[in-house]
Order: sequence, then structure tokens, then C-alpha cells
Amino acid sequence: NSTLLAAENLVKTYTSRRGPFSPASTVRAVDGISLSLARAKTLGIVGESGSGKSTTGRLVLGLEQPTAGKVSFDGTRMPREKTAEWRGLRARMQLVYQDPLAALDRRLTIGVQIGEPLEIHAIGTGEERKERVIALLKAVGLRADQADRYPHELSGGQRQRVVIARAIACEPELLVCDEPVSALDVSIQAQVVNLLRDLQEERGIAMIFISHDLKVVRNISDRVAVMYLGRIVEEASSDEIFREPLHPYTQALVSSVPVPGTPLKQRIILQGEPPNPAARPTGCAFHPRCRHGNARCRGETPELLPIDRDHSVACHLVASDAPAGRMM
Ligand code: SF4
Ligand code: MG
Repeated sequence: NSTLLAAENLVKTYTSRRGPFSPASTVRAVDGISLSLARAKTLGIVGESGSGKSTTGRLVLGLEQPTAGKVSFDGTRMPREKTAEWRGLRARMQLVYQDPLAALDRRLTIGVQIGEPLEIHAIGTGEERKERVIALLKAVGLRADQADRYPHELSGGQRQRVVIARAIACEPELLVCDEPVSALDVSIQAQVVNLLRDLQEERGIAMIFISHDLKVVRNISDRVAVMYLGRIVEEASSDEIFREPLHPYTQALVSSVPVPGTPLKQRIILQGEPPNPAARPTGCAFHPRCRHGNARCRGETPELLPIDRDHSVACHLVASDAPAGRMM
């Protein structure tokens, strides 16, 4: 079985209050998400802020507990409590997130920090760990003599390379990267994305790559899931998402991404308010911004349905418009 990660119907709700005297309301940050990821494959998760993509990443890693639903890793259900079994599974997955400065300790050299997970898990002798740290520095495109540097002596891109080296030190099977290049200069972003892709391919790591930017996930993802207000609204192979986006939201996102070698598509500008999980519209949550919305969309929430062997969409229009031969 090549499925490494499976999430079924994940829901995460929070209680929020606008102020001390206002009534509490329930916010559904994640509203029924199912995912599966094969070994050594990459799933891109794309959505605006407030779409629930970071929460999904944290649920998958067991850093937060779902309100409902379950996560299985390599066939074992993630325990809800932080038991020895939980720690054993957690050791096989790592998180890389946006801010490398926050992830690193400014008082320790980068060599020490890259070696720390090896030390914690008592991997190898002191000498072997040193060699491993040098190999990791090289693997992420840094030099051996940079081991003695401190985080503030490096550029943002180099710091993110350090975070990545630390994340792969214990050979994880799954890497969750949450906006790993969003804080970096645009000129550096592609280098770090390419590094992640190379490491992922060489080492057979499965990856969830979360970004608000569809063009960042394009080249690294085998499959892409597009999220809107806590739900997946479209999921397909990366090629198909760009070639034939079917959900009006995905169409708008794709229209803003230039594809090399193809004429620029008519740009679809999204109207209306950005999504707010505390004020979820009725029916299809995208309807206030949708060019095609109708009365049904305002009243009835579309399910994510397969319209092809490996392309799923949550939109009333797509489901009813699909030629009969394509329906499942
Ligand atoms: Fe637009 Fe309706 Fe489809 Fe939602 S269900 S994306 S509002 S057409
Ligand atoms: Mg986020």
C-alpha cells in the first residue's frame, strides 16, 4: 500500500468572541476535509488566508486535534493523546513553516541546530553526527564552513535552507511545508522551491506544500487541492488544475498565473470580500464572489464530487453541466 497519509472528514471548530460581552460563536476553520497522499508524492494546498490550509497542515501533523474526523499515517491512526505511539509517528513527519527566524534559536550556531534532532534521537556517535551535519549543509546548498555561523549572519534564503536541513536530519517520510517561501524575496523563492523538490525526489519524501500562491505550487505538486473557507473546492493533478480548472474560484486563481508558452488567458478578477471564517455565507461559501452563482448556490452547499477518475469539484454548475459520459 503506497498511501502514507490519509485524512478523513477532518473538522476543526473554534469558539470565538468579538469582545468580552459579545456572545460566543463557533468558527469552522476546517469543515470536512479528506486527503490522501502516497509515499514520495507532493500535494499542493492552495487558498487565501482564512481558508483553513494551515490548520489542515497542523491537524495532519497531530499538532492540533480535530473536532471530528481522523488522520492515519502509514496505516496507523494518529492517537489523540501525546503517547509514545504519537511521538513515534510524529518523529516520521516534520514541519517547515514561513518564518525561519522564529524556527531557529539565535543563540546557537546553525551546525548545532541542524545536529540537534540527531542528538535528541541519539543517532550515531558525536563524530558521526558532525559528519552528518556537514552532509546536510551540503544537501541544502550551504557550505561546511558555515556550520559555525549564527542565524542572523545568514540571509533569509540561507536560514530557510538551515530549517530544511534540520527538518530532514532524521529522514522524515512526510514534510509539511506551510508557506515555506512566502517570507523570502521573489528572486530566492524559486531556488528554495527547487531545493525542496530535489530533496523530495532524491529522498522519496512525501510532501504537503501549502501556499496562498498557485504559481508557487505548480512545479512542485503532483496534485493540487484548492481550499475555500475550510473546504476543498477542487482537487486534481497539477497539470489538470492549470489546463482545465472547473471551479469558478480555481478559474480565477489560474487566470492570474502566466503559463510559459501559452497565450495569457483573460484575467478573472475576484469581486467581493475576502473569505472570513467567522461570517461564512450560506450554501456555497463562494457564492458572494461567484460570477455564476444562482439561487441554488445561496441555499445548498455543493459536495466535492468526482467528475473524472481523478478530478473532483464542489460546484453545482459543474456537476450539472458535466457531459453524462464524464459523470461517475
Ligand atoms: Fe459559483 Fe454556484 Fe458553483 Fe458556488 S456552486 S462556485 S456559487 S456556480
Ligand atoms: Mg497560514
